[in-house]
Amino acid sequence: MPRPIQALIHSAALAHNLMRARAAAGDARVWAVVKANAYGHGIERVFDGLRGADGFALLDLAEAERIRALGWRGPVLLLEGCFEPRDLESCSRLNLWHVIHREEQIDWLAAHKSAAPHRVFLKLNSGMNRLGFAPAAYRAAWLRLSGLTQVEDITLMTHFSDADADDEGAPGVASQRAAFVAATDGLPGERSLCNSAATLRFAASDTVLRGDWVRAGIMSYGSSPDHPAHDSAHWQLQPAMTLQAELIATQEIAAGASVGYGSRFTAELPMRIGVVACGYADGYPRSAPSGTPVLVDGVRTRLVGRVSMDMVTVDMTPVPAARVGSVATLWGCGAGGSVLPIDEVAHAAGTLGYELMCALAPRVPVSVG
Ligand SMILES: *Cc1c(COP(=O)(O)O)cnc(C)c1O
Repeated sequence: MPRPIQALIHSAALAHNLMRARAAAGDARVWAVVKANAYGHGIERVFDGLRGADGFALLDLAEAERIRALGWRGPVLLLEGCFEPRDLESCSRLNLWHVIHREEQIDWLAAHKSAAPHRVFLKLNSGMNRLGFAPAAYRAAWLRLSGLTQVEDITLMTHFSDADADDEGAPGVASQRAAFVAATDGLPGERSLCNSAATLRFAASDTVLRGDWVRAGIMSYGSSPDHPAHDSAHWQLQPAMTLQAELIATQEIAAGASVGYGSRFTAELPMRIGVVACGYADGYPRSAPSGTPVLVDGVRTRLVGRVSMDMVTVDMTPVPAARVGSVATLWGCGAGGSVLPIDEVAHAAGTLGYELMCALAPRVPVSVG
């Protein structure tokens, strides 16, 4: 028998979360962002749930090939554009739209022999200082691109550094919004500004931010982009991934006894401990401390002691009926409609839902349901 651990990908939740993006985005179209193998869920596994999107955005040519191999004929956007000139041949062959964020990418395009002209997204660095043209250089880049026969259409684009900030109307969004409006003033073409956080927080009320395309990443997978200010229930998002494993042993321990490596947890009273077949080699964060929430048979309890490579140990006090074979939910959906948001586990471990879902280990069997 294989180790009793598995991840489940919930197609209906993906479709539901996409609808939440649509509801927030008004008349803007929605990119489902599926970079990093669909945030760890698997491009092939999320395709059915997300095929109602207007397009798929990602970074990697191999991932773009996989989307096309699934039969997707609609828009596909390379969020970092081309890494070298010959990537443009793949863009032509696969009909990929691509971001232009630096001058050399325009040089490559100008030298590219293409049967059909390309659709490009011209990226403004509005203050995040990662990718994009500086505001002073943006208009010249647009003019240069618009003069190329290789270019069919230019969408104006930027990306926010602070869309998930705690206080409403975070200064980062306001200043980046202003920089975008100034740099693009009078330029024709569609616009794309919002990631998940900006879509949920601002797109409904601010038509400039909403633009023509929003880029829904983390929210598609059911994680709240601005946790803990707002949780996934607040945004009406459903977990797209469940990580669950069975109890493979239980221990009755006396008051004063400790659990696991480093003896980091000591029982104050006699208690029962459950040993779950999931550890950091499965992608569960080793940094999760005692007290991190976990569900057993759908009942909320907590981690006790350190996470080891192949196991975690949990407090069985709230679930006296649980035994070997009972199901522990590390995150996602548990028995009886219970839910443990991935964001709560990530928060306890000092990270984000993004990192946990991306880190699901290849050894964990995954099924779609
Ligand atoms: C990853 C990414 C997104 C999606 O961000 P989320 O916070 O996951 O919604 C949007 N735009 C760009 C440019 C990205 O790289």
